[in-house]
Order: sequence, then structure tokens, then C-alpha cells
Amino acid sequence: MTLPTRAGLDAVPAYRQGRSAPAGASKLSSNESPHPPLPAVLAAVHDRLGTINRYPDMSAAALRAQLAVRYEVDVDLVTVGAGSVELAAQLIHAVAGEGDEVMFAWRSFEAYPSLVRIAGATPVAVPLNAGHAHDLDAMLAAITPRTRAIFVCNPNNPTGTVVSAADLERFVAAVPQRILVVIDEAYVHFDRTDSYGAGIELFRRHPHVAVLHTFSKAYGLAGLRIGYAIAPREVAENQRKVAVPFGVTDLAQTAALASLDAEDELALRIDEVVEQRDRLHELLVDAGWPAVASQANFVWVPAGDRTAELETLLRDGGVITRAFPGEGVRISSGSVEDIDRVAAALVREEAIA
Ligand SMILES: *Cc1c(COP(=O)(O)O)cnc(C)c1O
Repeated sequence: MTLPTRAGLDAVPAYRQGRSAPAGASKLSSNESPHPPLPAVLAAVHDRLGTINRYPDMSAAALRAQLAVRYEVDVDLVTVGAGSVELAAQLIHAVAGEGDEVMFAWRSFEAYPSLVRIAGATPVAVPLNAGHAHDLDAMLAAITPRTRAIFVCNPNNPTGTVVSAADLERFVAAVPQRILVVIDEAYVHFDRTDSYGAGIELFRRHPHVAVLHTFSKAYGLAGLRIGYAIAPREVAENQRKVAVPFGVTDLAQTAALASLDAEDELALRIDEVVEQRDRLHELLVDAGWPAVASQANFVWVPAGDRTAELETLLRDGGVITRAFPGEGVRISSGSVEDIDRVAAALVREEAIA
């Protein structure tokens, strides 16, 4: 006797987490914040530890209310999830099922293809252009009567490229309004171009746009699992139907609220990560690697055949990265010390060569 497997699950790739780092190494494999939690955030979480015998507020009312004020949107349009990856799943389940298509660029966020397959829908992956950025014309051309949603990851993971505000506006205007355009802005805080914040503006102007934000990256709460979506009313309603109840803990909601209060302090940290990202890019280019200029908290090196070589030389220098075999290496920005290590590893290789 064998236990049953749901039809279609064979096609779902398992999510691969960024490598863990041995003690003392720099973990630049998962785009996390290199900074420990802010003292005020730790204190707020600590204050709530005595309540963990209770279920959390499933509606995350306080956090949603604050986000609604900040973005000047109706609170019903704001949904909180256990990381924005859960919200991406909710959005897909809200609009697509068997026989439907969900489009995204490729390479982009690794979770998209699995989430689409888990919903029983068909992933449509449109190759990035030669500049490692979204090919919006090709994406428009790939729309079919079965397309239900299109993800635009901006800045894109793992390439760090952005779609400008104007290009994104033209794209959204050209996508039929029966299709949901999801703008995944997990890395928006590191974007120093005019596409910073474009998602919310597009949400205001078009009826078929949803935006995803997370507290995992710039806010440094990856371990607590919390993010939010702002979506059209009927989509947000259906998100609530497909959500796993009580997915977002009280500690996560508390930490998110405390983080919103500490944004000035967080901004300084984000500036440092951006500075080190640009330094990382420059170091790689100077060492002869084809690094792509980035607006996220990581740098993509489409090293092709030399992917394993780059991953190994960095690992030998105590730096753990995310390698996509035969394609490239994604290196997260880190602290000054982390990027010093990258510099040392790259120089060591020059000495050997
Ligand atoms: C990291 C990431 C997310 C979400 O992470 P969560 O921890 O689930 O909030 C979403 N989209 C992209 C593109 C990411 O890289």
C-alpha cells in the first residue's frame, strides 16, 4: 500500500533555503538584515512573551490600522500574512486555480513557480532581458485568455534590477483589468531610483494592482514571519478566505508595530546596507566579475560556467552565498566586516591567478 499523492504535486519543486553559515562565517545567502534586532523592538516583543498562551488577534487590527493610515487606504484592503511569501500564496489562491496561468519573469523569486503549482495553476515564466531586467513587452505578449495574475518583482530577486516607475505604469495600463498585477516590493527600501514606492501609487490609480511588502528584509524581522499586502477589495476579501487561520503571531505583530515606530533608526541601517551593496558591486567589477548594478540588498553575478568557482572562493574566505548552478551567484549585502571579507577573498584569488 502506498499513501496517496495529490495530482500535480510531482511538478512542485521543493523550496531551497539559503545555506546556513558555520560559526564565524558571513551569512550572505538569504538577503537578511546583518543587524541584530533594534533594542526597542526586542523590548516590545519581550513585554508580550507572557501572553503566548493566547491566540493572536487574527485580524491584526492594530497593525493593519496603522498601515492603512500610512498609505491612506481603507483598512479592509490591507492584509497581514506570515511573511509576504504567504501573501503571495494567498493572492494566487484568490485568483487562480486549475487551468489558469500565473506569469512572472525568470529568473525571479524562487517561490513563485512552486506557489503557482500548489494552487493547481500553470506557471508562465518569461525570460529576463539581456540586462537581467523584466522584459515587459515579452510579458505583455505572453498574456493569454487564461492569464489570471502577473507578478512583477521590483527590485527583482536575484538580479537586483528595477523597472522604472514610468515603464511600470505603461505596463499596468496595458494589462487587461481582468488580470491582477502583483508588484512584489520586498526590497523597495533599498531602491534609490524613481521606482521607489511606485507600487502603491499604481495601486491608487489602477483597479487591478496589488502590492506586497515584508518586514523580513529592511526591517530585519525575517525570523518572525510578517508581511502585508494592499489589494483591491474583492481580492483582499478572498485572501481572507484562503488564509490559514492564526498564521501571524502576536509577537510578529508586536515587532512590526515597534519597527514602524523605529523607522528613523532603521533608515540609518538601510543606508549602511545600501552603501555596502554598492561597495560590493564595485569590488566584484574591479575583480573582473560580471556583477550587475543592484537596487536591492544583494548583488547578482551572472558568472555562468564560473559560478561554482566564485561560490567556492568566497566560501573559502568565510562568506556563504546563494549559488544557482551554471547561472550565477547572489551575494547579500552585509555589514562593513562582511564586505571586507568578500574583498579579502576576491584579492586572494587575484594573487593565485
Ligand atoms: C524575501 C522575499 C519575499 C518575502 O519574504 P517573507 O520573509 O516571506 O516576507 C517576498 N518576495 C521576494 C521577492 C523576496 O525575495
